[in-house]
Amino acid sequence: MTTPVRKKGRLSEAVQSIQPSGIRRFFDMASTMDNVISLGVGEPDFVTPWKVREASIDSMERGYTAYTANPGIIELREEISSYLSRQFSTPYDPENEIIVTVGASEAIDIAIRSTVNPGEEVVIIEPGFVSYAPIVSLAGGKPVSIGTKKENEFKITKEELEAAITSNTKAIMLCFPNNPTGAVMTKEDLDPLVEVIEKNDLLVLSDEIYAELSYDQKHYSFARLPGMKERTILISGFSKAFAMTGWRLGFVCAPADITAAMLKIHQYAMMCASTPAQYGALEALRSGQDDVERMVTSYKQRRNYMVKSFAEIGLSCHVPGGAFYAFPSIEDTGMDSNAFAEELLHEERVAVVPGNVFGEGGEGHIRCSYATSMESLETAIERIGRFIKNHSS
Ligand code: PLP
Repeated sequence: MTTPVRKKGRLSEAVQSIQPSGIRRFFDMASTMDNVISLGVGEPDFVTPWKVREASIDSMERGYTAYTANPGIIELREEISSYLSRQFSTPYDPENEIIVTVGASEAIDIAIRSTVNPGEEVVIIEPGFVSYAPIVSLAGGKPVSIGTKKENEFKITKEELEAAITSNTKAIMLCFPNNPTGAVMTKEDLDPLVEVIEKNDLLVLSDEIYAELSYDQKHYSFARLPGMKERTILISGFSKAFAMTGWRLGFVCAPADITAAMLKIHQYAMMCASTPAQYGALEALRSGQDDVERMVTSYKQRRNYMVKSFAEIGLSCHVPGGAFYAFPSIEDTGMDSNAFAEELLHEERVAVVPGNVFGEGGEGHIRCSYATSMESLETAIERIGRFIKNHSS
């Protein structure tokens, strides 16, 4: 018997309109080679603190293996609420303004899908995290990018935002501290954006997953700005600060009407986040702040080492104020970021991510994650230094 030929295409037009992530290609290449030092991965090199793992194991021993309430266990939502008040002065109501999600990744998805109508534009700051634009496209929206500049330390200005806005603009997606540039925006940097946001009646989707990893001053949450909480969807999670990437746990906070809308999607698509992970996260918020500080101190040392070392080997690199990425310029080598990353991998066995995968403004740079051991960083710098020497004309 022959299988009937399908007349209709098997795949949706929406999924065909997006590309697979460019980061993956380098991981796949590097995984087939020996002796590679990877500065490619965007995740902590620490294991989740033991007491967090223990709390999760304990919850399973006690038999907490069923679904939880759709938005997450109330104890965790209450802890998220006090954590946000304590750390970032942004209180949210645990009853109707917080949803525990499957990573910040799900939070980004439901925030976009519950607010963006087909044809509406979402302003995205680039270089930026790779998932924003594809998710806006999947929702039928139109991503509009603003390329930030090295001269501005990869911050966005009021004028740049204004220039990107049309009568169709619905929202702006912010991410500070930024992946991949490490840029941070202080209260003074964010203040001027408020007028533009109010004038154009925009929503703000603020991905603050790297908030704890701010090295030179305390993170300032966008929702803290006068009048902005009502317009802001705050996205965050446990992956980076608490070294919990594999647990897949995040959260999203927003005014009650938007939270109720996001909950509908979460309810149908996920039901709830993983129960054992929620119990682990509860412990992380109750007693994990010392661990966060220990990890942040270590990232800061490595950040300082990377910036100093890039200068020594002749790569100009702005000082990343947060996250765990350095984003040096490779323009002086005359290579584009793809060629640089590919040749560096083959010649010196160092995996970095070419800046062009992060969108407009990323070309001419490479992303180097310094969430890896000092010893590996030292060897990587030695190898990159030799590579630059061999390729300088
Ligand atoms: N947002 C940014 C800026 C990220 O860099 C990442 C992961 O790299 C995420 C969100 C996704 O995090 P999660 O592991 O919580 O899904």
